[in-house]
Amino acid sequence: MKLLLHTCCAPCSVYCIDSLAEEGIKPVVYWYNPNIHPYTEYKARRDCLKEYTKQIGIESIFEEEYGLVPFCKVAVQDLENRCGNYCYPVRLEKTAKYAKEHGYDAFSTTLLVSPYQKHELICEIAEKLAKQYDIPFLYRDFRVGFCEGQAKAREIGLYMQKYCGCIFSEEIRYYCHNQAKLDVAMDLKTIKEEKPQVKRIENKEDYIDLLLDADPSKASIMKYLQDSDVYGLKLNDEIISLAVILHIDNKTLELKNLVTKKEYRNKGYAKRLLKHLCGNYKQKYDKMLVGTTENNIPFYVKQGFDKYEKTIKNYFIDNYDKEIKDGELICTDMIYYSKDLKKK
Ligand code: SF4
Repeated sequence: MKLLLHTCCAPCSVYCIDSLAEEGIKPVVYWYNPNIHPYTEYKARRDCLKEYTKQIGIESIFEEEYGLVPFCKVAVQDLENRCGNYCYPVRLEKTAKYAKEHGYDAFSTTLLVSPYQKHELICEIAEKLAKQYDIPFLYRDFRVGFCEGQAKAREIGLYMQKYCGCIFSEEIRYYCHNQAKLDVAMDLKTIKEEKPQVKRIENKEDYIDLLLDADPSKASIMKYLQDSDVYGLKLNDEIISLAVILHIDNKTLELKNLVTKKEYRNKGYAKRLLKHLCGNYKQKYDKMLVGTTENNIPFYVKQGFDKYEKTIKNYFIDNYDKEIKDGELICTDMIYYSKDLKKK
């Protein structure tokens, strides 16, 4: 198969190229990323990919377009939705068009490897373009090899970027992240002063109302609550966060519910509770799973749930009476990640 593989950077290409090779597919790498800013970063990622493809003997095409101005003009009109409105479509459309015009059998993208990207949205856009340009989109859920690919990239010394690409993601990575760190530091100071404690909860059903904030079906909660361990973070005689942990087998756990009271959210309490529990459970267990919606993947990846496991298609449609929304997102699929509890 003659495959044109849109490639965002060398580290993300590692697993994609390796796993395609196992299927007997040797893709042609296609660089078109006007979303990467500033220019020094654009150049670092591009040059690293040039070098890497040369080293491994993979043909590559580089479309030179450093698109700061056009990108920003469009992105600022709707910053929240810039990925789906502009960044994904502009790159995938150029790839699909090039593939069609140059006799490829299909196109795909390394964006499918990253748990930080909006996976479903990328597929949706790519499928539309496949119809529009009459060329198949080759879908692979490369997320399963994200950690493996990143580890290999580090080992062979590839340039590892620290943020997604655009100047807005750079702001989130450095400016907001530092701000968040400051907030967390302040919160931890407060936490230290007020000495919150982790408590095992026996009267589990008394906390249904709070659990419903994270899983809006009582029937669903009742299916796992009795067989699970429930822990709470107690602050000044009040349980402010809850975690529900189900034992799957003697090496595996599943985090079924993690929730914080509204007035205490975004202060690092759930993270603190989860970290404490993972630390305790690692004595006996190897792995903790979590099933989540697309919006919450970045949160869990940051907590070490960085291994993609599986997707249950239409889970929220098939298991809930009402439409479930997470912010603006209508929940459809349940996506599972896991954390290696033994990993340092
Ligand atoms: S965050 Fe990443 S995917 Fe979204 S617009 Fe910026 S570069 Fe593109």
